Amino acid sequence: NDGGVPGRVRVAVRLRPRNSEELIADADFADCVELQPELKRLKLLKNNWDSDTYEFDEVLTEFASQKRVYEAVVKPVVESVLDGYNGTIMAYGQTGTGKTYTLGGLGEEDTADRGIMVRAMEDILAEVSLETDSVTVSYLQLYMESIQDLLDPANDNISIVEDPKTGDVSLPGASLVEIRHQESFVELLRLGEAHRFAANTKLNTESSRSHAILMVHVKRSLKGRDSTLGSDVGGHSHLVKTLKAPIVRKGKLVVVDLAGSERIDKSGSEGHTLEEAKSINLSLSALGKCINALAENSAHVPVRDSKLTRLLRDSFGGTARTSLVITIGPSPRHRGETTSTIMFGQRAM
Ligand code: ADP
Ligand code: MG
Repeated sequence: NDGGVPGRVRVAVRLRPRNSEELIADADFADCVELQPELKRLKLLKNNWDSDTYEFDEVLTEFASQKRVYEAVVKPVVESVLDGYNGTIMAYGQTGTGKTYTLGGLGEEDTADRGIMVRAMEDILAEVSLETDSVTVSYLQLYMESIQDLLDPANDNISIVEDPKTGDVSLPGASLVEIRHQESFVELLRLGEAHRFAANTKLNTESSRSHAILMVHVKRSLKGRDSTLGSDVGGHSHLVKTLKAPIVRKGKLVVVDLAGSERIDKSGSEGHTLEEAKSINLSLSALGKCINALAENSAHVPVRDSKLTRLLRDSFGGTARTSLVITIGPSPRHRGETTSTIMFGQRAM
């Protein structure tokens, strides 16, 4: 597993197990999908005799552990972040299909439930040196085209700054917290989640209607280390040793828990709900367009259409590695939403 070709988006599909309600209410009905993980295939059952088959980079069944998901989808991305590249993990799917479980699980009752964010930080902290390197984190919510700091919720008008030369994205107004220990990171995630809940209650909306974005900046100073680490200085590693010039390597890991992808019935919606629905549709379709452009190797990736895609601009193309996890449920009642999630994933490949 090489983590895929930089530039292209790797797409994994993850099926969540039936919940207790589905086990009872849908007991007489088969799941709407059939997974063939060794073939990396998914069969979408249209009715009793007809199905469509799709291929993905990774097919994760309802039995796939959090550890397995991390290792298959995230670990190679984290490794490239440690090497100084940008890496992004996004979860896309209908509300209730396991996006937050996959990404944000804290595993407080059972450590096996720990999600991607916690496992990624564990790997990062194990690899960096606390004397020479730094790991800093921002945690944000993007709701109705405005960015709120989940670590300082009064700050709800954060702007995106793009470096015109490098295309690097930064958020100068966002809190940046240095992380030295795993415990303080878990505490930060818990705090962010509490702020998210409070903010959404105040706005009278649900967390599934906004995107949550975790950014982890890893800055490594390779001075005085084994020169093989500084591979980008090539044959000049002897120079580095004599001059002791520090080589700084900056990587960024972005983890995005996207708003629920379900179609909101706009016909009966008005005011707040309608505006919310429009905003979610806008950002998710803008994201889809950017990912499609990458899949098609198009020279133009239309990042300017939404704040979400502007924020993710340095995740698209170049040396960046991006993985998309699409999450689906098994219930035949949600076949329509499941189909559209599968299509979103297919267009990214
Ligand atoms: P979403 O964030 O997509 O709305 P959640 O992550 O909140 O969905 O998941 C909905 C429910 O399903 C939660 O109770 C979660 O713990 C459970 N769940 C989701 N995926 C899994 C899984 N793979 N294994 C066990 N439980 C899961
Ligand atoms: Mg969620």
